[in-house]
Amino acid sequence: KNRSVSNLRAAVICVLGHVDTGKTKILDKLRRTSVQAGEAGGITQQIGATNVPIENIKEQTKIVRGISQTEFRIPGLLIIDTPGHASFSNLRSRGSSLCDMAILVVDIMHGLEEQTIESLNLLKAKKTPFVVALNKIDRLYDWSTMSRKDVRDIISSQGPNTQNEFQTRTKQVILQFAEQGMNAALFYENPDPKTYVSLVPTSAITGEGMGNLLALLVTNCQSMLAKRLMFSEELQATVLEVKAITGLGTTIDCILVNGRLREGDTVVMATSDGGSIVTQIRSLLMPQPMKELRVKNDYIEHKEVVAAQGVKIAAKDLEKVIAGKILSVESGGVVCSGQPIISGLNILVARSPDEVEICKEEVVKDLARELGRIKLQDRGVLVQASTLGSLEALLEFLKDSKIPYSSVKIGPVVKRDVMKASSMLERENQYGTILAFDVKVERDAQELADQLGVKIFQADIIYHLFDQFTAHREQLK
Ligand code: GDP
Ligand code: MG
Repeated sequence: KNRSVSNLRAAVICVLGHVDTGKTKILDKLRRTSVQAGEAGGITQQIGATNVPIENIKEQTKIVRGISQTEFRIPGLLIIDTPGHASFSNLRSRGSSLCDMAILVVDIMHGLEEQTIESLNLLKAKKTPFVVALNKIDRLYDWSTMSRKDVRDIISSQGPNTQNEFQTRTKQVILQFAEQGMNAALFYENPDPKTYVSLVPTSAITGEGMGNLLALLVTNCQSMLAKRLMFSEELQATVLEVKAITGLGTTIDCILVNGRLREGDTVVMATSDGGSIVTQIRSLLMPQPMKELRVKNDYIEHKEVVAAQGVKIAAKDLEKVIAGKILSVESGGVVCSGQPIISGLNILVARSPDEVEICKEEVVKDLARELGRIKLQDRGVLVQASTLGSLEALLEFLKDSKIPYSSVKIGPVVKRDVMKASSMLERENQYGTILAFDVKVERDAQELADQLGVKIFQADIIYHLFDQFTAHREQLK
């Protein structure tokens, strides 16, 4: 009800690409520009995301040729931050991607690299439209920097050698896209944005092309995704991370993609024991504008938050909520085919007391559905992890390493899990093993394991689990 193309929400944008192509720098540049532009229309760093309001985009795209003909209809962009060397892969909700559009960053000096191709495959699989930032143009031979100009004019003002190198490298990248079965073209030479992916030359250091990149994101979102971006009151929110914060207790960081959350709302979420919790939102928190997120307790409380936004929820009993969590290569050595994962389960709001039971059933079903997608073997190790994201990453790794798994669970290792593992012992010794990834092992569970001869390997880095298991397997031979 009331959905219309005249009431669009901010588009959720993810940044992907090979390590060191400049993903973080591009976001940094966006934020810094806004500091210079002052508070008005300023970009805010939100929970796990950077919110770029349309006023700011208008300011940054003033230099773009022909922009005066563009009508800005979305309220802004919500760009998901990628920690460390990580990039997102799998922002999911009910099987589809939460991410509306992506920026695939390619280093013009290196062309398509291993993780670029992995990112490409993910985007294809999720059917997520994207634009390419052909980054680091300032590293082209003899590049002369010109600020506050359309990147087309900056390129055509370069010396002949620089222009030559630009053309050669761009052609190379287009060829590499063709090898991946994709048409690509510079955005100003794109014959058909529906079938050709656009390349935007950028420098995250000098800021050249950043205005063009923003303009293209906005126009593509508006022309291709208007329907999808129609604001809906139907809540769509995903838990990214569960975090204990001094003074606030356990909080959850989430991305609100659609609908609204209010202080006092009754929220229902899945828990690691396969059940659900029902709790009231004590406060909706967002960081102070233009302050780094790291500063503790520096949050502003909001009575209401309207999508799309990143927001922190403080409430009672959040400890057992299952997080999606962004897994970065740096933070845990967690690599999922080279790509870390974000995935999360939905948050539901019960608008009336009789909705509570329905919501509880639904979140439990949701979790069961997610876990049900996982294909289990008759013989294999037992796998337990702290979050859905970390579970998926570990399973992906085990698959690649040809280690079969017979059971998966989110949450700590308890006696019941050990019993289950011991029945595997009878079938094949090596699989009487629990791989506990970033989860606690209850003391009585460990004692029982020692009695029964079940091995529990516990680590917060996937490779360590792998090493321990491989050594154990060798020993058994
Ligand atoms: P990420 O791993 O994709 O997040 O890459 P970073 O943003 O951390 O950048 C990797 C390195 O490349 C850093 O040393 C950056 O300063 C540098 N870098 C990023 N963008 C540019 C650019 O446009 N031009 C130049 N010359 N260096 C860049
Ligand atoms: Mg980075």
